[in-house]
Amino acid sequence: MRSTSKDDEIATDINKMVNNSTSSSILLIIASLSDVVNAAKDYYKIMGVDRKADERTIKKAYRKLAQSLHPDKHPDKQSEFVEMSEAYQVLSDSEQRSIYDRFGEEGIKRHQAGKAGGGGGGHDPFDIFRNFFGGGGGFGGQAGVRKGPTKQFEVKVNLADMYTGRRVQISFDRSAVCPTCDGSGARSRDDIHQCSACNGAGVRIVRQQIMPGFVTNAQMTCDKCGGKGKMIAHACDRCSGAKVIREDVELDVEVMPGAKEGEELLFEGESDESPDFEAGDVVVKLWSERNKNAFRRRDANLYTSIALGLDEALLGFERNITHLDDHIVTLHRRGVTQPGYVERIEKQGMPKREDWDTFGDLFVEYSVVLPDKIEGDLRKVLEKVFGRQPGAMDEKSKKDGHTEL
Ligand SMILES: [Zn+2]
Ligand SMILES: [Zn+2]
Repeated sequence: MRSTSKDDEIATDINKMVNNSTSSSILLIIASLSDVVNAAKDYYKIMGVDRKADERTIKKAYRKLAQSLHPDKHPDKQSEFVEMSEAYQVLSDSEQRSIYDRFGEEGIKRHQAGKAGGGGGGHDPFDIFRNFFGGGGGFGGQAGVRKGPTKQFEVKVNLADMYTGRRVQISFDRSAVCPTCDGSGARSRDDIHQCSACNGAGVRIVRQQIMPGFVTNAQMTCDKCGGKGKMIAHACDRCSGAKVIREDVELDVEVMPGAKEGEELLFEGESDESPDFEAGDVVVKLWSERNKNAFRRRDANLYTSIALGLDEALLGFERNITHLDDHIVTLHRRGVTQPGYVERIEKQGMPKREDWDTFGDLFVEYSVVLPDKIEGDLRKVLEKVFGRQPGAMDEKSKKDGHTEL
């Protein structure tokens, strides 16, 4: 008994909603119905879209699913195809979608039942398919739907971004199926007519006289419809019959910590759209730019160089270098550092892409910069330290004909 009265309430409320009247009592009933809604089919899940998905996203999802579930290609997926078409029919219609959002599958069934009888409420899955892809609701003799070409972008990011990881945006323009005519190219469905010259076949049999007395039948592409079998009386105002429009898109590219040079990121179906084929993929190839701290990279290892003064090379030093994420690495050595010496500092390289917790190593190559001149007191001190005769080199270079610079 209780459930019957609840059902009556649903029916009344749907009618109210359709009439665009909302009241707080409806909201209360909605809240109490939430478990009924949850138990029903989830159209969003079936379409693989978010509850907030816009019209375009839903259409796109349909296009993709229809191609992978159509019984012409996948006879075993017939029931999935029908279910998906049902979900699409509801979610692509703003009135039905809002009823579904509030009252779930049960609500939408009642709404559809109320409408039926007036005729034309039908939701033949092949009708929906025909709207999208044209033709007879199937793929015809086609072995499968072609996939459009892949677009590739080379993207340069700072090496620091590959160290820390970062989200970057790339933007480009692509062709998109015209949202006004859904890719039919016509102003309305009634503007699409079967070609009268070929009766929709796209080809015509033409009698040709090869020579006097000899006549042969030849099959030719219909010149009236260009082989399409259809004629459009009034072209779509948005795309002028081209079926596609240009649109700007932005893609979020996730640069992972430790991203490799030349790493490829795949964005399926983000390339040019067309009503005649499945959208191709976008491939983003990542490269690093030389960064300000002049770290060079080889796989997971980093390389840098440091110039030491004579005193540092001889007596030891402490130096701070700023790493790619601005953390400080302190280098200190006691004693002599030979020019060209390479110090390996473990785990200060790039994060390893496969395992972010592990890092490559940092290699620091030292060079020694000698002073331009050593004169006066310093020279005297050094002569003494090294046990040289004061002024001995001056005499020798004069004798050899060299001049001290
Ligand atoms: Zn024709
Ligand atoms: Zn259009």
